[in-house]
Amino acid sequence: MSKHEHGFRDLETRLDELRSRQLFRTRRIVESPQGREIVVDGRSLLNFSSNDYLGLASDPRIAEAFQEGIQTWGTGSGASHLISGHTAAHHALEEELADFVERPRALLFGSGYAANVGVINALLSIGDQVFEDRLNHASLLDGGWISRADFQWFEHCDMDQLQCLVAQGTDRPCRRLIVSDGIFSMDGDKCRLDELIEIAHNTDSWLQIDDAHGIGVHGDHGKGTVDPVSYTTEDVPVLIGTLGKAFGTAGAFVAGEEALIETLIQRSRNYIFTTAMPAALACATSRSLEIVLHESWRRARLTVLVKRFQEGIRSLGLPMPQSHSPIQPLVLGETETTLSVAHSLEAQGCFVVPIRPPTVPVDTSRLRITFTAAHSEGDVDRLLEALNTACVE
Ligand SMILES: *Cc1c(COP(=O)(O)O)cnc(C)c1O
Repeated sequence: MSKHEHGFRDLETRLDELRSRQLFRTRRIVESPQGREIVVDGRSLLNFSSNDYLGLASDPRIAEAFQEGIQTWGTGSGASHLISGHTAAHHALEEELADFVERPRALLFGSGYAANVGVINALLSIGDQVFEDRLNHASLLDGGWISRADFQWFEHCDMDQLQCLVAQGTDRPCRRLIVSDGIFSMDGDKCRLDELIEIAHNTDSWLQIDDAHGIGVHGDHGKGTVDPVSYTTEDVPVLIGTLGKAFGTAGAFVAGEEALIETLIQRSRNYIFTTAMPAALACATSRSLEIVLHESWRRARLTVLVKRFQEGIRSLGLPMPQSHSPIQPLVLGETETTLSVAHSLEAQGCFVVPIRPPTVPVDTSRLRITFTAAHSEGDVDRLLEALNTACVE
């Protein structure tokens, strides 16, 4: 029988296939707020699987701003930004975010996923070109595909290949966009920003950097991978930041020149045809932004924790993560091994979620360990001991 004749009747077969390859995913039900410890299946576990890098997702000051926001604005925004949903609270947050990244304007989106797909589609169409790092986040890849521009991969951080690919088409009169994560989400390594900027500049291309894991975390004031002290808006015309990770709330923003932001307001379908985030959430994020800017000790703590972890990994003889960020992947390769190590860690009180294909390439299943400013050095030691038991002994 051809696939066509099956219709949807083969759904169960396909699910079984995932189960048999150990690629079937299940959701763990968390029974506590996000934090250093979370309660899963009734057990309290040390949590090394969040993107709450600065430990702000349960910060009482942000919660208070959220509650005050609800008192002032209610719960729902009621409409999209272009109808009646764009409140003074949203507008103020956009101005604060633009000031934070030192760019002319910023525009709020409901999520990082929506922002990436929405921006690429507003900028590119048939006949244009988009170049993406092979390990870019799914939302950047989806944005590129959906845009119908000519889509080309380059191998992870391979700047020579990118240079060749872009140079091949420069005689064509079209728009060219180079797209990269700032910090790669599953590996924690940094893009080669200086080279990306140079290639974009020399080939009259635009550069879009998605700094979901860098914003709030990198640089003295948490301004991220594209620190305005070193890089101008012209160097990186399209900057994406997300608010659900280091900022501890939800949503995302795009920051750039006036003409970029106006173009998105006029043309980005993911901006236009969706309800604005609750105004109270914008109030909460405004409070978070102040904390991110001023509490540098949170970033300093992350540096200490990562250093301690890497020293421990070295002495255990485990594969050293090639990352200086709070994302410290332990690439174990086989899915089965990765699952069993994760299982052992959990039995020992450490929650580390295994990441397998298709989220990461085949044969690179890993434990994606993340640290947050809520962790202590003792927590790192506990994780190292558990890893010693799970992997070495
Ligand atoms: C998490 C993430 C996103 C998606 O952001 P959401 O706000 O969670 O939708 C986009 N890009 C990267 C690199 C991410 O890690």
